[in-house]
Amino acid sequence: MDENNINTNDVMKSDCPVCGGDKTLEVINKTDNIPYFGDILETSVSCKVCGYQSSDSISLQTNDPSKYTLQINDTKLNTRVAKSQTATVTLPELGLKVEPGPKSQGYVSNVEGILNRFEDAVVRAIKLEGDSISKEVEENALNILQLITEVKIGELTTELIIEDPFGNSVIDDDDAEKELLSQEEADKLTTGFTTIDQ
Ligand SMILES: [Zn+2]
Repeated sequence: MDENNINTNDVMKSDCPVCGGDKTLEVINKTDNIPYFGDILETSVSCKVCGYQSSDSISLQTNDPSKYTLQINDTKLNTRVAKSQTATVTLPELGLKVEPGPKSQGYVSNVEGILNRFEDAVVRAIKLEGDSISKEVEENALNILQLITEVKIGELTTELIIEDPFGNSVIDDDDAEKELLSQEEADKLTTGFTTIDQ
């Protein structure tokens, strides 16, 4: 694996959106090369007055829109998955889908990690509902958690789909099926991109 090339390209000063400090915000843009994701631009900001910090990364590389499909069960928990910030992750048979939003991050994980993220999201949703949760929503959520557990212990095989209009996501498994998406199909996917205002 190549070493990461980190070049600090740019340091700029900007007004702080939190404390309103005049040019107190340091904005650093750097490019980086990450396995699976190619070249990315990382923007990090920090305010020397109030301590506000934030960072964001954007893929600079675009490949053909792609869709990976893999049947997953307990034998696939260690399969590597690279999900870019523009990818949509779906477990269609479980009715689960995560679309990219403005806060989406890319990550390299494995199938188990993806299942854990879905589990966490369902548990968070239950907690958010609190005592006002309806029987129906609660039963549905518990059913999903049960199904995820069954996949993990090998009692259920289900389909995992990762679609990426910029082709920077991978299910790294010989059994994974890769298809290229047409531009029309890719355009229907949410990208979660926001414009950077500075
Ligand atoms: Zn500040």
